[in-house]
Amino acid sequence: MSDRGKERSEVCAWCGARLPAQAGAGRPRRYCRRSCRQRDFEARKRARELGLAESDLIVARKAVEGLDDILFVLACAISDVEGDIALDASPQQLRRSLEWLLEAARPLVGASERLRSGASD
Ligand SMILES: [Zn+2]
Repeated sequence: MSDRGKERSEVCAWCGARLPAQAGAGRPRRYCRRSCRQRDFEARKRARELGLAESDLIVARKAVEGLDDILFVLACAISDVEGDIALDASPQQLRRSLEWLLEAARPLVGASERLRSGASD
């Protein structure tokens, strides 16, 4: 009756990489490679040993603090840009504002990768 099965996100349950298109019927793939399947299995096993819920996440304090610093800079940039373009919405100002926002947001890309890989710096 519903077509929801087709809308399921087709990304690896461990690393989030896009899964290759699956030919034919059968149980849908959940992982992009065996090592992801193994790491997920080990993580779930360790979580059970520690009494953690499926939704609990343990991350390094340093990683969270690093992310917090980046978000603070981004919040300041958003505030600056809102003020600046309220006063001057010329193409030159919009370009400067966009560059400042990108500069403030770009470190999130690296931070996200570090969180996923579990590295703390
Ligand atoms: Zn994967």
